[in-house]
Amino acid sequence: MMWSDRCKWPRYAKSLISVGYAVLLLAILLPMTQPPERAKGGVELVGLTPALEVQGPQMAEDATQYEAYVPVYQPEATLFVEPTPTPVPVYVYCNDGGEYYHTKNCRFVKANTPKVTLAQAVNAGFKPCKSCKPPKQDDAG
Ligand SMILES: [Zn+2]
Repeated sequence: MMWSDRCKWPRYAKSLISVGYAVLLLAILLPMTQPPERAKGGVELVGLTPALEVQGPQMAEDATQYEAYVPVYQPEATLFVEPTPTPVPVYVYCNDGGEYYHTKNCRFVKANTPKVTLAQAVNAGFKPCKSCKPPKQDDAG
């Protein structure tokens, strides 16, 4: 054809005709799709045409729907649970014969109020004071 060596047409003319022919093919095969402007050689496009015909406008619609779903499947990084920090002994104050344990600054805590760990106070049956709201056993781990 025109690509033979005997053809005297300038190279750009051959390319223009090839690209124009390819664009015309695409325009016929894909009436709903904008023909690609970056079409290259005519020989390559002839091979690519069947694949483009199979995909067609339907593939473009599927691609659009997939993009719409992307945000839905984004993993939630906030689900990561931080490791429990190293336990630090929590001390509370329990009055002898009392029912509640207190923080250091509670008004029920006297100078001679025994100081024990939170675990000891809870195990002994003491409950968190409703006035000073000391830490609970769950807070200490
Ligand atoms: Zn208290």
